Amino acid sequence: MNRVHIKTYGCQMNERDSEAVAAMLRARGYRIVASEDDCDILLLNTCSVRDAAEQKAIGKAAHESSRRRRDPDFVLGILGCMAQNRGAGLLDRLPDVDLIVGTQKFHRVPDYLDNLRAAREAGVPVAEAIVETGVEEGSQNTIRDHMEGPGRQVCAFVSIQQGCDMNCTFCIVPRTRGDERSRPAGDIVLECEELAARGVREVTLLGQIVTSYGRRDQRQGDGASPFVRLLERVHAIPGIERIRFTSPHPRGFRRDLADAYSRLPKLGEHVHLPVQSGSDAVLRAMNRPYSRERYLEIVRMLKGARPAMAFSTDIIVGFPGETDEDFERTRTLCEEVDYDMAYVFKYSVRTGTPAASMPDQVPDEVRESRNQALLEVLRAGSLRRSRALVGTVQEVLVEGPDKTGLRLTGRTRANRAVVFDGPGRLAGELVPVEIAGASVSTLYGALAPAGAGLQTPACPVSL
Ligand code: SAM
Repeated sequence: MNRVHIKTYGCQMNERDSEAVAAMLRARGYRIVASEDDCDILLLNTCSVRDAAEQKAIGKAAHESSRRRRDPDFVLGILGCMAQNRGAGLLDRLPDVDLIVGTQKFHRVPDYLDNLRAAREAGVPVAEAIVETGVEEGSQNTIRDHMEGPGRQVCAFVSIQQGCDMNCTFCIVPRTRGDERSRPAGDIVLECEELAARGVREVTLLGQIVTSYGRRDQRQGDGASPFVRLLERVHAIPGIERIRFTSPHPRGFRRDLADAYSRLPKLGEHVHLPVQSGSDAVLRAMNRPYSRERYLEIVRMLKGARPAMAFSTDIIVGFPGETDEDFERTRTLCEEVDYDMAYVFKYSVRTGTPAASMPDQVPDEVRESRNQALLEVLRAGSLRRSRALVGTVQEVLVEGPDKTGLRLTGRTRANRAVVFDGPGRLAGELVPVEIAGASVSTLYGALAPAGAGLQTPACPVSL
């Protein structure tokens, strides 16, 4: 009765938390299984950023509750952001759930499961669900274990920070993830070194606002910020070929970080730079401390450091008070930046956030039509940028077989997915690939001869 399946909702940080919980459980003798139908313990690691994400997880938990009622040995747990946000209140709708564990207590999951199973085996009735959503000092340091999978893992996520102090008026994260806390740089570097020794070639440093890394608890000087100093240390690790990070905040892009792109070649030509809106009025109402012009200045600064720099972003449409003119500013900003990709979200009311009680909430049909209009602009831009790469040779980090298992997949320095033919032994290698075809999000190509000239297209937009 020790087969565990973890189903993850939401962002990469949730994926990383699930992976750490899985590694801790495996170290305790649990088996992590791929099929939720063949497990004894089902853990739902949840997201609260939008209402739709919460409703999806609640629907799933309600469905699994009937299995819990049929099978007294089955264990059903809810972990992560929704557990933190709703706590014991979840039991009103989901009385059969055994375990509710918040974002600062992931490391306690193995103990809770051990205790639950021991009590059941001893025939001790467990009347009440375990609900644990407290604050825990140092919990940011507990997300460090990685699963050793069967194949070679080429890319890994490394958590550098938990929580957020930004207080964007739309966002539930400060409530679900708590105050901003950074891990010591030495621990992060050690984790990256261990990953490199196991064959990992690319690390993505994860946090809610990675550019604020160490701001509260590390020495600040006139020189580079703690985040840039961390990038330098990870960059020096032999075996790590590429470094990515998500999410930064525009506020954190100062000269030192732009300079890092000129000095540190393992930083690829891609930045995920959440803008949220192209309208200054909406940015102010969101409590985002930058203007449209400052954002464009950052884009120009980064293109100055790397002319081939590609950008992706997060955008919210239909924030309270957003007018047609505000939306138009977002649309034109997308055209000006010429994003490779963007996550577009319809504003979702989050109870307890300042925006939830703002006047002029935007009707759903307006949010939907703005969402569709923006997706169309972004899709056309992505396709045009993809097609511009046809005929170039790109440096690709090979991740392994693609989803058909017949070809290889990897990513360019600018984070574009590439599919091509080649032997499986290339996993973990940097290879030149000549691009022959392109869809909105994927490039297709063929291995180019070693030493083939790597070309990057000229930046198509001058800002
Ligand atoms: N920490 C990053 C930042 O502030 O730039 C982003 C992290 S957040 C978990 C991911 C994205 O979800 C946000 O960038 C935002 O676009 C979106 N989001 C957050 N709250 C939202 C809400 N109430 N409605 C719609 N989208 C939301």
